[in-house]
Amino acid sequence: MRVDENTGLLDEALFLPSPHCEPRVDQDDVDLIVLHGISLPAGKFGGVAIDALFLGILNADGHSSYAELAETKVSAHLLIRRKGSITQYVSFHQQAWHAGQSTYAGRERCNDYSIGIELEGTDTQPYEAAQYKSLLEVILALQACYPKITVDRIKGHEHIAPGRKTDPGPAFDWDYLHQQLEVNLVKE
Ligand SMILES: [Zn+2]
Repeated sequence: MRVDENTGLLDEALFLPSPHCEPRVDQDDVDLIVLHGISLPAGKFGGVAIDALFLGILNADGHSSYAELAETKVSAHLLIRRKGSITQYVSFHQQAWHAGQSTYAGRERCNDYSIGIELEGTDTQPYEAAQYKSLLEVILALQACYPKITVDRIKGHEHIAPGRKTDPGPAFDWDYLHQQLEVNLVKE
């Protein structure tokens, strides 16, 4: 798996371009990965609602929870589905609108300098092995492109917007991710 440095696209992802994005101030100023959890409707997996939300075409009448959501303009760079398949909505060269009001290590507006990765899931239901496998490959591909993304700069939405956001939640196994990164990172 690799990132095309010209397009900012991941070679193994399905690309569905979202209008919910904007140019980065500095294309090389990317040093944070933000992990999220999402399911639509909440707790249901599969279906097209997440794609529709990020593409700005969610049907407000599709579910009782969609009316408000259909008005919001949000996106992420990537979505990793339960079986590990990957969709990309925004080039890494652009900001995706995933973090909202946020701060990491004293710096605000995390969208400016981060890559947002959604995992299809909920805060309480264990994420799938196939998702960790894809996530690990994605992170390694991103680190090859953006070496400032060190292991300590891979955080959850809950860490950059505490009190406001809870995802990816206690169901996400940070210890396992860190172990896998430790094993797989290229040592110099
Ligand atoms: Zn989130």
